[in-house]
Amino acid sequence: MKSRTAQVYFNDSGTPVADDFDDVYFSNDSGIDETHHVFIAGNDIPARWLAHTRRDFVIAETGFGTGLNCLVAMQAFAAFRAEHPEHPLKQLFILSTEKFPMARDDLARALTAFPVLEEAAKALLNNYPLSIQGCHRLHFDEFHTTLDLWIGDVHELLPQWHVPPRGMIDAWFLDGFAPGKNPDMWTEALFSQMARVSRQGATFGTFTAAGIVKRGLRDAGFVVEKRKGFGRKRDMLGGYFDGQHPAPAAPPYSRFNNDAVTANHRIAIIGGGLAAAALARSLSRTGISATVLCADETLAQGASGNPQGGFYPQLHSEASIASQIQAHGFLYASRVYRQLPEPFTHDWCGVLQLNFSETVGERQAKLLDSEVWPEALVCAISRQDASDFAGVPLPAGGLHIPLGGWVCPPELVNALIAGCDENIRVQTSAIVTAVTEQEDGVTLCVNGEEQQFDYAVIATGADSIHIPQMTALPLRPVRGQVEAIPGQPSVSALRTVLCHKGYMTPQMDNRHALGSTYGKDDTRCDVRESDTQTNLATHKKAMGADSWVAQLQHDGKARAAIRLTLPDHQPASGQLLSNDVLYEEYRALSTGKPLSSQTQPPAGRLFTLTGLGSRGLTTAPLMAQILTGQLTHTPLPAPESLLQATAPQRFAIRNSIRGVAPRAGQSAMEMVES
Ligand code: SAM
Repeated sequence: MKSRTAQVYFNDSGTPVADDFDDVYFSNDSGIDETHHVFIAGNDIPARWLAHTRRDFVIAETGFGTGLNCLVAMQAFAAFRAEHPEHPLKQLFILSTEKFPMARDDLARALTAFPVLEEAAKALLNNYPLSIQGCHRLHFDEFHTTLDLWIGDVHELLPQWHVPPRGMIDAWFLDGFAPGKNPDMWTEALFSQMARVSRQGATFGTFTAAGIVKRGLRDAGFVVEKRKGFGRKRDMLGGYFDGQHPAPAAPPYSRFNNDAVTANHRIAIIGGGLAAAALARSLSRTGISATVLCADETLAQGASGNPQGGFYPQLHSEASIASQIQAHGFLYASRVYRQLPEPFTHDWCGVLQLNFSETVGERQAKLLDSEVWPEALVCAISRQDASDFAGVPLPAGGLHIPLGGWVCPPELVNALIAGCDENIRVQTSAIVTAVTEQEDGVTLCVNGEEQQFDYAVIATGADSIHIPQMTALPLRPVRGQVEAIPGQPSVSALRTVLCHKGYMTPQMDNRHALGSTYGKDDTRCDVRESDTQTNLATHKKAMGADSWVAQLQHDGKARAAIRLTLPDHQPASGQLLSNDVLYEEYRALSTGKPLSSQTQPPAGRLFTLTGLGSRGLTTAPLMAQILTGQLTHTPLPAPESLLQATAPQRFAIRNSIRGVAPRAGQSAMEMVES
């Protein structure tokens, strides 16, 4: 997962040079003019922006390097928006791949060469992600730009992009190092992937005029023209995609099978917690109007209502899909929360995952030895350092997650909603008693009256168990009680989040959160003395019977809530189909047919964002972006493997492969258990 950073030196002209490829990142003469000539003019931007009729324009780049091309495009787009505020084109997406990301300091040094890009460069440096393979979505709102920085080899990344049947990319910045220096990149596989993800008419510009590139692009269906090169280079290539898309090999998950949702559609988001708020904000910044229907008098009364929640990723020693969801969910959420304009109580005070037993110690050692994760995400901490850092004596060291901390979830939910534009409306005390999906929309019965929407998203958390359509998912409600321990001298110095089997936070409003119990299939929210004793016992066991934990005075104040989990502990984000439709769709899998032989399920109007369990702070924002991308046909910020692991249809697919078919009236949960 961890990616090696680029080995760079700066030549006499101050231009960065990559050791691995023995080539410059940009022209020694004038990098910025080269970008304008080859990539901006080479793609006929901004004339194409002026003629554009859709809301989004999508650029893809091979080789992010210093980000120079992206920054120039971002700045040009901001100027375009300022000049044409009423133009339908509102948003620029840039999808850039990078095998060896530059270290942040090298990047900063390289970009000092371009004072006109200072503002954009500062925004990039402030958001520059850790070197972890996969997609890092960065928002540059001042530039109306979303940058998906895909870290990895372009040959591994492009096949992981799931795009609508008619393609997604409008323009290509083809910018790996010169083919002679980097022959592995400029292959037929790259050109055919470019064809797969390009829209008809997608343009490209590249600094090279090498025959292998010219022929490769032509063979893949691009019209290729030789044009005047930049500076001392005689020629360059430009052109456009005029080929046929290869037969759609869309995986049989229901993505992009609806018409794209636009600003004219009415969307209902049923729910009032973190999932609903994250989705509202995500849709809002994509220009989509939505109504949030919250059953309670105020937002965040369910599992998102605990006063404090620890914020950290649950990492494993392998780069499993589960780990990737955690790492990328956490890093994306970190950026979203840190950029939120509205205030909410939080402390990015770091999180300590204590090594409290032999088994945990072995697991932590394995994670550290594997070197899968960069130290900036997770590193070892000794008992002494951990105690000094925490401000209280600890029985062990463990793992330190410096970017973590704690958040007040209800305040965060309100801040996410407050951060939305006027296109988001919140209706509280809105009790939805029936959801009826038709071919052209969804009818909701809200407080006894029918309301009509084009699409509805069920983001209800534990309340999902009362919605018949949600039984298509194997829902597992889990009760959790968290103690609100009063502030007291023995623990007042605690200044980081402590995690072991349970967790404890620094104080907020003179209370520390100490949790949590895990009561499967228990949906009652009463505060129980027995749960209090369980919570305290868990902490004593981990921290030592003679530690300060044993002395904690508690007045019994606590809160219990129900979290909704799914059997594989991953969230679900996507279209919601009934069991009958799903099993009809995937029936052939039980006879051994491969998944790839199946067609996409039928389009529908009902979606869900759920199953966040106790990890909603980490996963909600990324899952909301994934759902927004599916609804609006905009780029999805995750590879295909991760999309499949969070698709609501995954349980039906797994059951079908196992040969488990539904009996009349049987829920997905009953099938999983059968
Ligand atoms: N576009 C960059 C800019 O604006 O600064 C300059 C790109 S530099 C000439 C080429 C980049 O391609 C390098 O950062 C290099 O690490 C990257 N690269 C080379 N081979 C790659 C591959 N197979 N997959 C992804 N990136 C690759």
